[in-house]
Amino acid sequence: MDVTPILENLNDAQRQAVTAEAEPTLVIAGAGSGKTRVLTHRAAWLIDVERISPHSLLAVTFTNKAAAEMRNRIESLLDMPVRHLWIGTFHGLAHRLLRRHWREAGLPQSFQIIDSDDQLRLIKRLVKNLELDDSWVPREVQYFINAQKDEGLRPKHLDDDGDPHRRQMIALYGEYQQLCDRGGLVDFAELLLRAHELWRDNPELLAHYRRRFQHLLVDEFQDTNAIQYAWLRLLAGDGGVPFVVGDDDQSIYRWRGARVEHIRQFQKDFPATTVVKLEQNYRSTATILNAANAVIANNAERMGKNLWTEGAEGEAIRVYSAYNERDEADFVIGRLRDWIDQGNLRADAAILYRSNAQSRVLEEGLINARIPYRVYGGLRFFERAEIKDALAYLRLIANRDDDSSFERIVNRPTRGIGARTVEAMRSYARANSCSMWRAAGAIASDELSSRAANAVLAFLHLIERLAHETSDFDLQDQVDHVIHASGLIDFFKKDKGEKGETRVENLLELVSAAKGFEPDPAEEMSPLDEFLSHAALEAGEGQAEAWEDCVQLMTMHSAKGLEFPLVFLSGMEDGLFPHQRSINDPNGLEEERRLCYVGITRAKQTLYVTHAEQRRLHGMDNFSQPSRFISEIPDEYVEEIRPRVQVTRPMHTASPSRRRRSTSIAPGAEAGIRLGQRVRHGKFGDGVILNCEGQGAHARVEVNFETGGTKWLVLSYANLDLM
Ligand code: ATP
Ligand code: MG
Repeated sequence: MDVTPILENLNDAQRQAVTAEAEPTLVIAGAGSGKTRVLTHRAAWLIDVERISPHSLLAVTFTNKAAAEMRNRIESLLDMPVRHLWIGTFHGLAHRLLRRHWREAGLPQSFQIIDSDDQLRLIKRLVKNLELDDSWVPREVQYFINAQKDEGLRPKHLDDDGDPHRRQMIALYGEYQQLCDRGGLVDFAELLLRAHELWRDNPELLAHYRRRFQHLLVDEFQDTNAIQYAWLRLLAGDGGVPFVVGDDDQSIYRWRGARVEHIRQFQKDFPATTVVKLEQNYRSTATILNAANAVIANNAERMGKNLWTEGAEGEAIRVYSAYNERDEADFVIGRLRDWIDQGNLRADAAILYRSNAQSRVLEEGLINARIPYRVYGGLRFFERAEIKDALAYLRLIANRDDDSSFERIVNRPTRGIGARTVEAMRSYARANSCSMWRAAGAIASDELSSRAANAVLAFLHLIERLAHETSDFDLQDQVDHVIHASGLIDFFKKDKGEKGETRVENLLELVSAAKGFEPDPAEEMSPLDEFLSHAALEAGEGQAEAWEDCVQLMTMHSAKGLEFPLVFLSGMEDGLFPHQRSINDPNGLEEERRLCYVGITRAKQTLYVTHAEQRRLHGMDNFSQPSRFISEIPDEYVEEIRPRVQVTRPMHTASPSRRRRSTSIAPGAEAGIRLGQRVRHGKFGDGVILNCEGQGAHARVEVNFETGGTKWLVLSYANLDLM
């Protein structure tokens, strides 16, 4: 095959990185300089030119979505599907290893992943059982446990330094872990820690994976935490070839244990490292890039780098001072309307905010304006109560010892099992070191009143019956049967009004999710186990199933790595962003500024920055100053918009000088490409165009293939026929 597509559209520095010798490589570069592109092309280069088997590559990205996108891009560069290529998040990859080697990892085969809500519930129970006083806040205990795990520490590694509070924390960590181990429950931090211990303690297994994964490709390296780095380090050994890309200015997860210092550590651990710097930005207009550079220049802790663009100067950054949060939402929606009316894709517009709760008002506005939108990480489908109820049934069917699921549904729908009965089960379980399931069976036969015993036995019987009835159903029918036969649907139907209705709809949507779920034939687990793991892993990211063209809403944290022609940074107020708790902490403030840099650099063409003088959030009214980050953008790049006179005035009647220049990003129009168009691909078969972006040689389309799922293809070298 002609290698040109892989090296085309790369500058010299990018090409140097893509074609580097098999030696440790560190690409360190600012936003939008093509780091992710380099990583993708590197993978394709290794496979296609260096003839490295895809089997020998391990690629780590930051989200499942990014992983899927990377796979698509590699496939479109190679113009063929690549199987046996491991691409995923650290958590996803760790999970895969634990599934394969559950025995060596000391886990039951049907172990379940618990998300942070489940984790918190277990900890609450623990704190209550131990009859600790109110100074023991479950959330703080949770934070402590996760922080230790992120550092790779077990209770036995911890010293209380003679501090009784710390001693109790360590004891709680130990108790919590025992509880999880007994129920076969694995929290997010545990996935990483166990996967590390798996290799550390099984030299033969490690040797196997070292032989297998020669090339380790890591995106967003600046946000790796201690245990992730240790895991990579272990895998790389002396012979592996780590190829990592990152930007110290975009390190935004310190609060979750990420350590930007790993960039320096890497160079110490791998002294032969070649460092490549990329300095040209291809994403944003000069105005946007200069503004971002000016803001981040206020940070003292930086490795320092130049970033320039050949791109056009572009439009000024519009700063809008809203009267309150509703006015802010109206403004944003007015601009979105213009954008859509001009024929742009909704999906090319993103509204970013600092904290999740800010989305509600924006969502209301979008709903009223009938603009379709999608929230990433906010309304997490798999975290909605009714969905978790249904999943708990499924999990209990898969594993009777899953206490967290047991407690969740033992009396849901209500079946006469009261708090006292549950408490009796708990103390039996505690005294006998057994699961709630076993405890329930044991006490039903002697300790309980006959009414309570009947209720408990009926529940145990129900679960056994569901397990039996669905044992040879396919996943979709299994889910469908369970949500009905468990009584959940009827339970929520009784809840009159919109809420109950939405819950029923959500449950039914779970059946569709199961229907659309494609188990990976390479995974050695039942489709149900795989679906449940998928649900737990996806919940952290929200879902992206809607292929409808819609506006994107997300926190600035979730926007990392993404780019959009039109971006709104909303809620830019001191106290909100920078966040209140970081205002008096220099390190915290620098992290917030990096987050602001991430936010600004998501924009390709048009950037709006909005703040409100008065804001009602979490039920409280606040009056705030505009974010200090706004004043860090030099005036020359800013145009202020202040419609104080009449707040309710429709924004699109603003004076022409304030109107955004019209921008055309309707790609592929000249090539006759349109959304919904049917196409045929030489390898992937027939499909429909869902999305397109970029222009000329860079134009790409997203195609939903009837068999292969959705893929992004570069028009200029994908062999696509219009039908
Ligand atoms: P971030 O720091 O935000 O993760 P990044 O460094 O990973 O950004 P990419 O997302 O890889 O940057 O690239 C930014 C944009 O620039 C993308 O649209 C990419 O396709 C484009 N791009 C990168 N390199 C080139 C190039 N040599 N020629 C044309 N476009 C490029
Ligand atoms: Mg990137």
